[in-house]
Amino acid sequence: LPYPPSATDPKNIVRRKLTGYVGFANLPNQWHRKSVRKGFNFNVMVVGESGLGKSTLVNTLFNTSLYPPKERKGPSLEIIPKTVSIQSISADIEENGVRLRLTVVDTPGFGDFVNNDESWRPIIDNIEQRFDAYLDAENKVNRINIIDNRIHACVYFIQPTGHSLKPLDIEVMRRLHTKVNLIPVIAKADTLTDEEVTLFKKRILSDIQHYSIQIFEGPRYELDDDETIAENNEIMSKVPFAVVGANAEVTDNNGRLVRGRRYPWGVIEVDNEEHCDFVKLRQMLIRTHMEELKEHTANTLYENYRSEKLETMGVIQDPTVFKEVNPAVKQEEERALHEAKLAKMEAEMKMVFSQKVAEKESKLMQSEEELYARHREMKEQLEKQRLDLEDKKNRVESGRPIEEKGKRKGFSLRN
Ligand code: GDP
Repeated sequence: LPYPPSATDPKNIVRRKLTGYVGFANLPNQWHRKSVRKGFNFNVMVVGESGLGKSTLVNTLFNTSLYPPKERKGPSLEIIPKTVSIQSISADIEENGVRLRLTVVDTPGFGDFVNNDESWRPIIDNIEQRFDAYLDAENKVNRINIIDNRIHACVYFIQPTGHSLKPLDIEVMRRLHTKVNLIPVIAKADTLTDEEVTLFKKRILSDIQHYSIQIFEGPRYELDDDETIAENNEIMSKVPFAVVGANAEVTDNNGRLVRGRRYPWGVIEVDNEEHCDFVKLRQMLIRTHMEELKEHTANTLYENYRSEKLETMGVIQDPTVFKEVNPAVKQEEERALHEAKLAKMEAEMKMVFSQKVAEKESKLMQSEEELYARHREMKEQLEKQRLDLEDKKNRVESGRPIEEKGKRKGFSLRN
């Protein structure tokens, strides 16, 4: 038998009805109170060409004027940016005592240029920087209370052309889908007829499938009840959501005050499911799937990014054993690397040193040999002179005349 017994093995789970009240039935309430006290945060990114109604929709979604109405100046006064900039706005909103810190990340300039080839880069960079910041915070000594600035949902605005996705949409979505929960919406759906919307949705979905773009699909079903599953299917059947945004309230034909857009022939109501999919989008983003979006970001998207990043940094992760990046181990690895580098430098220096010594030695030996040669030569010369002198002396003693040559030699010797 394996020891310790596995807690997940159904054989080890004791199923018993308790006779007295123990109290852990209160756990959900504890969790609820704590979460409410702490508050929630939600970070949503909006991507799409300017003028597609992104700010209007965000305001409509959260029923706040997060974005002040834009003052549209004449083109000559407007400063046209050269690149896609990233702007982030945060607001604390409260509903029935529940606090939500909402951050909206906008991407002004996206798709607005003649050449939009690299439009996606600042967006991807921003998403990755947020992942990196989270990874850094996790690796710090104190990793409690990490602020989660990761993007939990990315609402992608598709221009209501009625045709199909544009090449730029496909390119950007393909780069985004592994990093964020992608939620495609048809912007300003009031500019299309019902038939056009239905056809456009079909074309968009077939493009999405054709290019293997992974869009957010809602929660996995295993633990859900039938009602939740039906609700989720209902929401998902509307993807890509055909949305209409409006900040102002208008009076409809029956004199009711509604959020909507007034046209000469009537009013398009934002909150009317027969008019557009705004309600379904809000339901998904805020009312039913916000936690799911956050969980999917943390457990799948971030987790994939994290393991890839750590692998490129040389940290090997065994899929069977979950290995945390231990700062002490990391430090030890860095120290070992540093020491190896020092040892290599030392060996190189030693090699250069011994090479220089050998060169000097050979030079010295050479000059020693030269010295010996000169010494030998001088000795030979001296010996010759000595013999000459001996000869001269013998001649003087024997009374023979001294030769001129010997005389000169004798003279030069004295000098
Ligand atoms: P952004 O540049 O994407 O943030 O777009 P804005 O929210 O500033 O909207 C640009 C213009 O489109 C404004 O004049 C809005 O009133 C208008 N607008 C916004 N949403 C809708 C919509 O759903 N339908 C229509 N017809 N117009 C919209």
